[in-house]
Amino acid sequence: MNDISAAVDKLVSYARKNLCLAEENVLWARNAVLDILGSPDYAFTGEESCALSPEEPLGELFSACEKAGIFAPEEREEYGDRVMGALSLPPDAVCARFADTAALDAKAATEWFYTYCVKNDYVKKSRLDKNPRFEEDGLIVTINKAKPEFRDPKKAASGNSVKGGYPLCAICRENEGCPVRNKRTLRTVDLTLDGEKWFWQYSPYGYFYQHGIAVNCLHTPMHVDRSTFLKLADFVDMFPHYFIGCNAPLPRIGGSVLAHDHFQGGGEMLPMHRASAYAALSRPSFKGVAEVLDWPGTVIRVVSADREELADVCEEIREKWVGFEDLSLGIVPSDEDGVHNAVSPTVVKTARGYEMSVILRSNITSERFPDGVFHAHPEFHSVKKESIGLIEAQGLFILPGRLEGQLKEVADLIEKGEPLPEEHAQFSLVYKEASALYSERPAEGADAAIRRELGSICRRILQNTAVFKDKRLTVKFLEELGFALI
Ligand SMILES: [Zn+2]
Repeated sequence: MNDISAAVDKLVSYARKNLCLAEENVLWARNAVLDILGSPDYAFTGEESCALSPEEPLGELFSACEKAGIFAPEEREEYGDRVMGALSLPPDAVCARFADTAALDAKAATEWFYTYCVKNDYVKKSRLDKNPRFEEDGLIVTINKAKPEFRDPKKAASGNSVKGGYPLCAICRENEGCPVRNKRTLRTVDLTLDGEKWFWQYSPYGYFYQHGIAVNCLHTPMHVDRSTFLKLADFVDMFPHYFIGCNAPLPRIGGSVLAHDHFQGGGEMLPMHRASAYAALSRPSFKGVAEVLDWPGTVIRVVSADREELADVCEEIREKWVGFEDLSLGIVPSDEDGVHNAVSPTVVKTARGYEMSVILRSNITSERFPDGVFHAHPEFHSVKKESIGLIEAQGLFILPGRLEGQLKEVADLIEKGEPLPEEHAQFSLVYKEASALYSERPAEGADAAIRRELGSICRRILQNTAVFKDKRLTVKFLEELGFALI
C-alpha cells in the first residue's frame, strides 16, 4: 500500500502548489481523496511533487490503484475526475479570484482561470496538443482526436440531454461539479451580458487557444436578436483580447447544442477576422462602415465604435436576411419545415472599434442536397459531414479523428503509386486531387500533398456555405438597406 500513500501525498502536494489548495484544507482534502479510493491503508510518506501539469501525479496514482485492484484502467477517467474535483477550489473561490484579478487586469484573469482549468485536468491540454494542426490556403485545419465525431443534428436540438433530465443539457451551469458527465472538475465564472446573468467556462475539447463558451444561466433556446449583438459587445468590452461569436440558431448550420443559449470564443484571432474587405459601404447618419468580406462564405463586417448603432445595423441586416428570398439562388426563408435563414455574428475589438462579422447562413435542403444546399456537398463528406458551425465559418476546420489514420493510408498509396482499393472508395476525390498535387512537387512528400488537398477542400466547403456565390449580390443586399459604396 506504500505506493498508494506516496501517490496520494504527491497528488496533494501538486494541488498545494498548483491548485491553490490552502494549508488548512490539506488534511481534509487528503481524506476526501482516500474516501474516493475506498479508504485504502495509508501512512504519510512526505513525498512531494514538482510536476506543473496533472498527468504525472495522476498517472502515478492510477498505476498504484490499478496494481492494488482499487479500480480498472477503463475507470481512470471517472476516478481522475473525482480525485481532481476534490482537490480543486470550490466555485465561490474561483469566481472571487477571477473577479478580483479581472478588476485589475482582464487578460491576467483569463490567463489564470485557463491555466487553473488545465492544471485541475478539466481542459485536457496534453491530449489536445497532440491534435494535428496546420495552416493551408489561408485556413487552419485541425484533426480532433479528443472529441467523438458528431453527425446527428437531431441530438443538437435537445442539447444532448441525458436520461433522467438532470442537468437539463450538457452546458447548463448545473454541470459544475456534477458526476453525470464527469464534470466534477468543471469550474465556471460569472458574467453579466446586456444585464443578464451568464457564465464563462473553458471547453475541454479546446479547438483553439483558450477556447471557451459563454452560457446563459437560464436553460433557454439559442436565438439571435438585437440583444445578442449587445451581449457580444459587452463580452469584448470586458475581454478585448478575446473574440466571441454566436452560432446560427438552426439545426444543420449551428452548433451541437441548440437547446441552450450560448456563445463561443477565445484567445485566438481566426482567419476570417483577418480577411480584408472586398467592398466597403456606408450610409448617411451611420458613423461606421459595412464591409463585404473577401472570404469564401457570405459575410458582412459592421465596424463601429458606437455599440448602439452597431447593434441597430446588425439587427437590420439580420431582419432583412431572415426574410430574404431568391428562388433562383435556392434561398427560401421559410416553408412548412420552418425558418431556414439565420445569421451567425462574431465580434473582435480593434483600433477601429467593434468589428462585428455577420455571417449569412441558410439550412435549406433539396432533393439533390438532402444534408443542405449550403452545407458541405456530398463529394466532401468523407472529410467533413458534420455541421459547418461558427468556428469553421471563421476558417478553423475541426476534422474528425478517424481521418488521421485513413489519410495516412491514402498518402502511402500515393507515394507508392498504387491504386486506391475498394474499401477506401470514399476518398477517391482526395486520392485523385492529392495525387496531382504530389506529382507537382514530389520532393515535399505525399503528406504535404494531402495537407494542401485538405486546405483546398475546406475552402470549397466554405464556398458551399456561401448564400451569395457572387459578392456583388452581397453589395446589392446592403444597397437595399440604404448603404452605398465608399
Ligand atoms: Zn441547458
